[in-house]
Amino acid sequence: MTKRAYNSFEMAQSQFDRIADKLDLERGARELLRDPVREYSFAVPVHMDDGSVRVFRGYRVQHNDARGPSKGGIRFHPHETMDGVRALAMWMSWKCAVVDIPLGGGKGGVVCDPHDLSMREQEQVARNYVRQIPREMGPVRDVPAPDVMTSPQHMLWMLDEFETIHGQKLPGFITGKPVGMGGSLGRKEATGYGVVYTIREALKQLGIPADQTTASVQGFGNVAQYAIQLYTDLGGAVTCVSCWHQKDQVSYAFRRKEGVHLGELQGITDRYGGIDKEKAQGLGYEVLPGDAWLEQEVDILIPAALENQINAETVQRIPETVKIVAEGANGPTSPEGDRALHERGVFMIPDLLCNAGGVTTSYFEQVQCNINYFWELEDVLNRLDTKMTSAFAAVSDVAAKQDLYMRDAAYMIGVDRVAQACRERGWI
Ligand code: NAD
Repeated sequence: MTKRAYNSFEMAQSQFDRIADKLDLERGARELLRDPVREYSFAVPVHMDDGSVRVFRGYRVQHNDARGPSKGGIRFHPHETMDGVRALAMWMSWKCAVVDIPLGGGKGGVVCDPHDLSMREQEQVARNYVRQIPREMGPVRDVPAPDVMTSPQHMLWMLDEFETIHGQKLPGFITGKPVGMGGSLGRKEATGYGVVYTIREALKQLGIPADQTTASVQGFGNVAQYAIQLYTDLGGAVTCVSCWHQKDQVSYAFRRKEGVHLGELQGITDRYGGIDKEKAQGLGYEVLPGDAWLEQEVDILIPAALENQINAETVQRIPETVKIVAEGANGPTSPEGDRALHERGVFMIPDLLCNAGGVTTSYFEQVQCNINYFWELEDVLNRLDTKMTSAFAAVSDVAAKQDLYMRDAAYMIGVDRVAQACRERGWI
């Protein structure tokens, strides 16, 4: 029997259907929210350095904008699909609603591998993406941001193209810009720190001191590195991290039982979050197969790389020691994996809540661009902590009062707020 390919949009829709039942949503709301309101698929032609032309496929999906302009990152990834982008756009709608910021859900992507492209070619991908849909996006319509394998530099090229087309300075068009060019201090730390603010709250609730805990992390990119930094500052020890190894085309896990050293690993990591295997071995790290990160006897697992990593098969390998799963990545747990964790009584901090620090600070970036006044780092991080802590409290309150799994509580808050905005606008 052939194994059916994982489809993240089907997963997002099945999660939505379950919550729609719990909320007893009316038919119109179900039909509207189950699919994106708008989506674009377009060609992104690039004149390559060798004189040839390559045409990449670009996607932009606006899932729902009843609460405000759509908001969501743009990925450059060789395995990007329209369904993948649809799922991520839907999750953005719920996420913005969970942290209660006035934005809707969107997402974008280009099917390409930046590892194989020069910076000039990447600039062409970024600019030509914007050229295809310059009127469909914008500061009051749909606001992109960086995501997997896109950076502040890509955002600035996109902004420059957008402003050139429109003949105006419109810094609120895109977030994740470089600091000093309309970017917010704290944006690069935001998602990883937000993950740890929620872990801190979960540990408080479980009565476990942070400095007596250990964690294992999948990924060593933006989210993972800042999560490791703040978690270590709280006294926790990360004993294992895993990442993709571009040259070998497999992932590896790097383990040091007394705790990995963040700065040391950062010194041997490329800009895509790939750790140099040989150098890590030289520094005394054990190098294990990529999925060994979830077999570690730790208190906390932080998936911060890709979707569908904790699934029906891999969940069996998670040791009993694991008390908390903090979803730094979007959709890292499949419904089967989730059911197994729920049955085991693992405290789940769902992606909608856990990694919402990124979009919250993107919203702060927009606010600062609009008022043309930029806050100090401490100011941004304090506001972020306040937002994340109160969103955590709201979700755990609903979970406690209605005896719900944390993921269901987060979904119910998110879906209910979006449905309510659609009703109030008279859409349904
Ligand atoms: P990134 O590109 O900076 O890092 C991705 C990391 O994942 C890299 O270390 C890479 O080596 C690793 N990786 C890739 N494939 C892997 C595999 N098969 N096994 C193990 N590791 C693998 O990306 P990021 O910005 O850190 O984002 C990570 C996740 O968090 C994504 O799901 C993204 O959608 C989500 N997220 C990011 C933000 C943000 O602000 N950056 C916000 C919300 C959610």
